[in-house]
Amino acid sequence: MNCEYCEIISGNQKANIIYQDDEILAFVKEEVISPGQITVIPIEHLTILEMVPGKILDKMFTVANKLSMAIFETMGCHGTNIFVENGLGGGQTVPHFSLHVIPRYENDNLKLNWVPQQVLPEDLENDFIQIQMNAEGLTISDEIPSEESEDIVVDEGDTEVVLKKQDDENYLLKSLRRRA
Ligand SMILES: [Zn+2]
Repeated sequence: MNCEYCEIISGNQKANIIYQDDEILAFVKEEVISPGQITVIPIEHLTILEMVPGKILDKMFTVANKLSMAIFETMGCHGTNIFVENGLGGGQTVPHFSLHVIPRYENDNLKLNWVPQQVLPEDLENDFIQIQMNAEGLTISDEIPSEESEDIVVDEGDTEVVLKKQDDENYLLKSLRRRA
């Protein structure tokens, strides 16, 4: 398979990697819309947004948010765009889902600002009904944290430190419990 991003994941193609764990990777592309732009991808070769599990999406956006803050500090930009090209019609050129954190400046003249168009009231109503029908039964059940987490308890004198093990060891939630 010829996938530019899988080549980076496998190490066949060199890239400046900012963040990596067993599920996602963040790196700097050679060609960017704005200097300082960072691209976040799932490790698994998933083509479009619809294929990406909610848990991975959560992590991608969490990392994108942290990187956005790092870009603010580093580049002194005035804002960022978190941008997804989903499918051919959405301008996607690599068949591997990605999101881009793009530094923005006032008057940077990047053509990411679309002009809203007025829609006929009957078309608006019709689109709304159709979308509402297709969105019926929408659930976010895969965003509920799993019950399988095993807590790590550390003895610290008369208090117990409980490290709540989440999906990934990078995310340890620390809570203190005073012993009775
Ligand atoms: Zn790929």
